[in-house]
Amino acid sequence: MAEYTTQLVVIAGGPAGLCAAVQAAENGAEVILIEKNAAVGGAANMGMGPLAIGTSYQKRQMYDITVEKALNMIMEYTHYNIDGRLVKRYFDQSAETIEWLEDMGVEFEGAYKYFTKSEPTWHIVKTDQGIGPRAASFMNKALFARAEELGVRFLLETAGRKILKDAEGKVCGVVAADKDGKEIEIACKAAIIATGGAGANPELIKAETGYTFNKDMFNFAIPGNVGDGIKMAWEAGVDHVPVRIEQAANFEGIDDLPMSVPNIMMQPNLLVNLHGKRVMDEEQMQNTTFLSNAASHQKHRVLFSIVDSSIVKYYMRNGVDEISMVRFNPDVSDFVDGVKMAQTNGNTGLFIADSLEELADLTGIDAENLVETVEEYNDFCDSTDEEFFKRKKYLRPLVKAPFYAAAIRPGGYGTVGGIRINENCEACDSEFEPIPGLYAAGADACNIYDDSYMFLLPGNSMGFAVNTGRIAGMEAADYIAED
Ligand SMILES: Cc1cc2nc3c(=O)[nH]c(=O)nc-3n(C[C@H](O)[C@H](O)[C@H](O)COP(=O)(O)OP(=O)(O)OC[C@H]3O[C@@H](n4cnc5c(N)ncnc54)[C@H](O)[C@@H]3O)c2cc1C
Repeated sequence: MAEYTTQLVVIAGGPAGLCAAVQAAENGAEVILIEKNAAVGGAANMGMGPLAIGTSYQKRQMYDITVEKALNMIMEYTHYNIDGRLVKRYFDQSAETIEWLEDMGVEFEGAYKYFTKSEPTWHIVKTDQGIGPRAASFMNKALFARAEELGVRFLLETAGRKILKDAEGKVCGVVAADKDGKEIEIACKAAIIATGGAGANPELIKAETGYTFNKDMFNFAIPGNVGDGIKMAWEAGVDHVPVRIEQAANFEGIDDLPMSVPNIMMQPNLLVNLHGKRVMDEEQMQNTTFLSNAASHQKHRVLFSIVDSSIVKYYMRNGVDEISMVRFNPDVSDFVDGVKMAQTNGNTGLFIADSLEELADLTGIDAENLVETVEEYNDFCDSTDEEFFKRKKYLRPLVKAPFYAAAIRPGGYGTVGGIRINENCEACDSEFEPIPGLYAAGADACNIYDDSYMFLLPGNSMGFAVNTGRIAGMEAADYIAED
């Protein structure tokens, strides 16, 4: 068995683990980081940037977002069903974290909203190709380089398996396995768990949330995130708090479609369930967490976004109502060809029909109700939305064939939560007592949204990862120094 000795083992190299390793090394600790994959960055390599509050970007852009406002928002959103001290420490540190990242060469485009009603807390990382998905991989590269510069030792393709404790209950080692399954033991004084949650573990998702993977839950978690860290922590005596889905509505084949298709089908037009009934003010669709939750309360957990050809033409002439930073190109000119191409390529979630009855037949929506709903909705467009009070500017009648529909289902970026931590990111038992030398950060320990991800403060999960990573790194370095 290979053996190593160090002061701190960081288990995983996503943004939480990378920030933990860099911060601990900056604070004087000797660090080994073990990462299951051949490369670091985790799910954040697909994302765009972290939350921060009170940054120079927000000040320059004259945005009125403060820690006080954000804290009140999240506490009310979660009905105070979270640890306010942890959130306060995270939010308080978040602006300085942006400067800390900039000092190691990360650049930011600025502070952005995710959708109109959200706050501009999302700090999108600058890339060499403009704004777009995977921007945060540039942040991860800078963190990796800084960690190497500080002497952090990386063991890639090495998966953490078990936390070892001594007779006094203090962390004294980590058992891991290399890519051939050979066991490695690393003696240490402290360990930080940051394995990114269990988004790719259907059994754990079923047990913790009730959702059935790829049946009524379609998420885009990276394959290695199967809950290893959460299970290691529970086995080491850490309190089991609920694992939740970080909800984001799923639109079939979104990565393979021309952007024009989601650009139009995610606009706040008519949204109905299989009964042919509306379920919400469609303006709220922009909050993908709300949309995912709304879908999960309907028959077969599906909703259909519907437009007609006059709405499509309107968007082609005037542009869409709501722009998304994720779908960075708002162009819709190839919408019709895009839908047809997707269907030819086997997409089963997009529909074109020459009448509402035919659309009902293709989608399985109740035909009589659909026709009635559209008639009523069209009347609302001439007056006001008496059913769900959608604002007038989003009310566009569906009158002209062909009609287009897209199925929308519950989905998620992965899971959040599972490991109880306090505001120092110490992993705690069911008595809320820290397990000496054990810390957790990032998605594994992200218990701050109650049951639904808080997209109103966008960048919140990567923000939590980088900031709790730093907190865990600081606290672990202090613990090691005091020992
Ligand atoms: C498509 C997409 C876009 C996103 N965009 C954003 C965004 O713009 N802003 C935002 O706030 N959030 C975003 N998120 C969410 C964000 O990426 C995560 O919240 C964040 O990456 C969590 O960081 P983490 O370090 O906890 O976990 P991860 O980034 O998931 O990293 C976990 C790491 O743990 C490793 N690992 C797993 N098991 C082991 C083991 N046993 N031993 C060693 N290593 C292990 C994995 O290989 C991985 O590298 C996005 C997510 C996705 C999927």
